[in-house]
Amino acid sequence: MEELKILRKCDLCDRSGENMSLLSANHKEKGWIKVCRNCWSELYSENRMVAGSTGSTGSSQDSSSPCSSCPSCCY
Ligand SMILES: [Zn+2]
Repeated sequence: MEELKILRKCDLCDRSGENMSLLSANHKEKGWIKVCRNCWSELYSENRMVAGSTGSTGSSQDSSSPCSSCPSCCY
């Protein structure tokens, strides 16, 4: 039996690695994606994330989320 490995991979630059720290971002066009810190910073500075989608505050329900009850799961 093979265990399912969760490969940490950035959805934007396609870099991957077991030690990568990924952040979830609510991209305005792509929806919820996992990105590396570099890409996250770029998205943030370019204002390409949905406002209020990061952090623990703000709206917990978002229509673009793949599952409405958990905004940053499904990975
Ligand atoms: Zn990246």
